[in-house]
Amino acid sequence: MKELRTQVAIVGAGPAGLLLGHMLHLQGIESVILEHRSREYVEKRVRAGVIEFGIANLLEEVGAGERLRREGLVHRGIELRYDHSAHRIPLSELADGKIYTVYGQQEVVKDLIALRVAQGAPLHFDTEVTAIEDVNTTAPYIDARCGDEDLRVHADFVAGCDGSFGASHRAIPSDVFRRYERVYPFSWLGILAEAPPATEELIYGRHENGFVLYSMRSPTISRLYLGVRPDETLDQWSDEQIWDELAERLSTDERPEVNRGPILERGITAMRSVVIEPMRYGRLFLAGDAAHIVPPTGAKGMNLALGDVRVLAEALDTYYVKNDEALLDAYSATCLERVWRAEEFSNYMTQMLHPNYEDEFENGVQRARLRQATQSREAATVLSRNYVDLNTM
Ligand SMILES: Cc1cc2nc3c(=O)[nH]c(=O)nc-3n(C[C@H](O)[C@H](O)[C@H](O)COP(=O)(O)OP(=O)(O)OC[C@H]3O[C@@H](n4cnc5c(N)ncnc54)[C@H](O)[C@@H]3O)c2cc1C
Repeated sequence: MKELRTQVAIVGAGPAGLLLGHMLHLQGIESVILEHRSREYVEKRVRAGVIEFGIANLLEEVGAGERLRREGLVHRGIELRYDHSAHRIPLSELADGKIYTVYGQQEVVKDLIALRVAQGAPLHFDTEVTAIEDVNTTAPYIDARCGDEDLRVHADFVAGCDGSFGASHRAIPSDVFRRYERVYPFSWLGILAEAPPATEELIYGRHENGFVLYSMRSPTISRLYLGVRPDETLDQWSDEQIWDELAERLSTDERPEVNRGPILERGITAMRSVVIEPMRYGRLFLAGDAAHIVPPTGAKGMNLALGDVRVLAEALDTYYVKNDEALLDAYSATCLERVWRAEEFSNYMTQMLHPNYEDEFENGVQRARLRQATQSREAATVLSRNYVDLNTM
């Protein structure tokens, strides 16, 4: 068995694990990142694409935001569509001039991997972590497997950044571990299409057939979603049916436009909210989707993950520089306060925009919420502040 020693062992090279490794490197703290998948796989994994104001600033401050500033699309509002009419929410105007940036998660991942490789810092792809041991001592270790080779990494701390399908939370004993979950009765069918977006701003729509979202990744690539029933499968939807349904759900009395083009990727994602508590056990710290999942309606998943890392990197720095554990001790409570706010906002957006196929009372409440969000300046202001900059406020 090959053995390594580092200060912080990081499980997972998603946005959370990669940003943590990069920030620790800037602080002079050694880390080893272990990633189950190949570099090519993680660099091509299309997921989130909305970056909050404060999170974009954070990426820039740590030298990972150069391409984001150059290629990211700056947005100042969103549109809500319901009852066949369109209503713009002027997010920046209502949130102290702050903007948000549309820039694909896989681009953030590519930028952070390029920095790590240029630094010559350890990043092991195709390496699956199989066990995390002794987290309740000052000498935890990780066992991993890379092809036929077994690897053991000894560390001062372990960061579980292994996402919603990861295993690091299993190192928390069952009498301490708590998991809160809500499963929504719908999924999202998402496509990435080679088609110039027909809208400058994101459109979130509630149509009687279901939810719809029109977003984009660049001036030539559109990203669109349809709310579908949880048991629906991709083979039930032809390309033409997807485009027709998007056009129908997005149509308003004035604007019935959708630009069609070749579909490059498609997938169905279940909608869930999950919070794991505590986010720290002994020398193990969970960050990102390893600790919480939000339905993507509020565009919070990646932002929340990077927000955790900001807190953890500062806490580890304080420990190594001043031998002070106060911020590490506060890590779980500090993050959970923000995590629950993001859960609340994601739940609010989700419940407002997905019609309930069985419950007409619920549908009446949803329409009332939409009218409030679009007609009351106070309600639109709360929505705007949460959408644009929840994670660093
Ligand atoms: C299918 C899908 C679609 C999504 N779409 C959107 C969206 O449209 N909008 C939005 O806002 N959010 C979306 N999200 C959420 C957003 O992408 C996540 O919040 C974000 O990826 C969190 O980053 P992370 O680094 O915490 O986790 P991840 O990005 O999941 O990274 C975790 C990493 O850990 C690795 N790993 C797992 N287990 C192990 C192991 N045992 N050993 C080593 N490595 C391991 C994984 O391979 C992965 O690379 C989506 C999520 C999913 C799953």
